[in-house]
Amino acid sequence: MVKTAEIKLKTKGAGDLIDITDSINKAVKESGISSGIVTVFVAGSTAGLTTIEYEPGLLKDFPKLMEKLIPSDKTYHHDETWHDGNGFSHLRSAVIGTDMTVPFVNGQLTLGTWQQVTFCEFDNRARSRTVVCQIMGD
Ligand code: ZN
Repeated sequence: MVKTAEIKLKTKGAGDLIDITDSINKAVKESGISSGIVTVFVAGSTAGLTTIEYEPGLLKDFPKLMEKLIPSDKTYHHDETWHDGNGFSHLRSAVIGTDMTVPFVNGQLTLGTWQQVTFCEFDNRARSRTVVCQIMGD
């Protein structure tokens, strides 16, 4: 059996990290499927999905790391193409990725206690986002 659900988000722009674990759990419960996998996917090339311990320190450390790896104040070739100033956003998205698969058993995601599925906004402006959860199993 396959069921699809959507999670709608309003983000504040680059550096915004949103814990979507509860929303995924809710989608899995509402699917009526007891065991299987959920593929979580964000349609967009300036966002990302990762897991992290969602606590105040790491919520500062992660954006700091992104800034160090792929600085936002640098000029990228992408900016010459569209002049939208978000070359860094696309690169961060490409490095982090826009999807993940999480197994679930008896309606519960098999995540670690300190492991939250986290949506990463990398774009240089506030966005409305749709995260698709495709739930497969029986
Ligand atoms: Zn762009």
